[in-house]
Parts: sequence; structure tokens; C-alpha cells
Amino acid sequence: MLLQQRAFRIDQLNRLDSPTATKSDPARDEIGATLREAARRVLTLIDAALRRIEEGSYGHCQRCGDLMSLHRLTALPMSTLCGRCQLTLGIVGPDRARGPEHSRTAHRDI
Ligand SMILES: [Zn+2]
Repeated sequence: MLLQQRAFRIDQLNRLDSPTATKSDPARDEIGATLREAARRVLTLIDAALRRIEEGSYGHCQRCGDLMSLHRLTALPMSTLCGRCQLTLGIVGPDRARGPEHSRTAHRDI
């Protein structure tokens, strides 16, 4: 799944970098630059996730070290924080809904 996304982003970058995609339209250039920036950012996240898979730390929250739920990793394979830490840090992600991951764990660390 990560590798597919990675291939998709690389392909997207290639298309955005192709001369046909950058016609001399300033508005278009700006959109293209934004898209390229976004695609590169995602690619960086994917590469980081792949590196964590190799290191064996993939799936663990980088803040609290808790194992993230499969549900979360399926929805957000590049996420580096568990849902609780993401909420704690106030990062608004695409998955603002609380997953089932912390309803199982009753402990509170605050
Ligand atoms: Zn966490």
C-alpha cells in the first residue's frame, strides 16, 4: 500500500515536472508548484514510514511509543502519532474522529 502510494506520488511529480504541465500561465504555475510541494511532502512521509518499517519501529507512536491501531495505520499509513497524541498536540488531521484504539486502553497518562 505504501509502495503503491509512493509510486503514485513519484508519477505525479514526474507529470507535474514535465514541460507540458508547466505552460507559461502564472496561475497554473502556482497550482503546479503547490501540487509539487504537497506531493514531495507526502513522498517524504512515505519514505520515512518505509524506513520505520525497515527499522521495526513502524506502527509505534513517535511521541508516546504506543502501538497504533491497525485501523489507524490502514487509514493513515504515514501517520507518526497515535490518535491521542495527535489530539493532544492539536494537529488537525484528516481523521479527526476518535478511532477505537484508545477506547480499549483504559489508562490515562495525563
Ligand atoms: Zn501517542
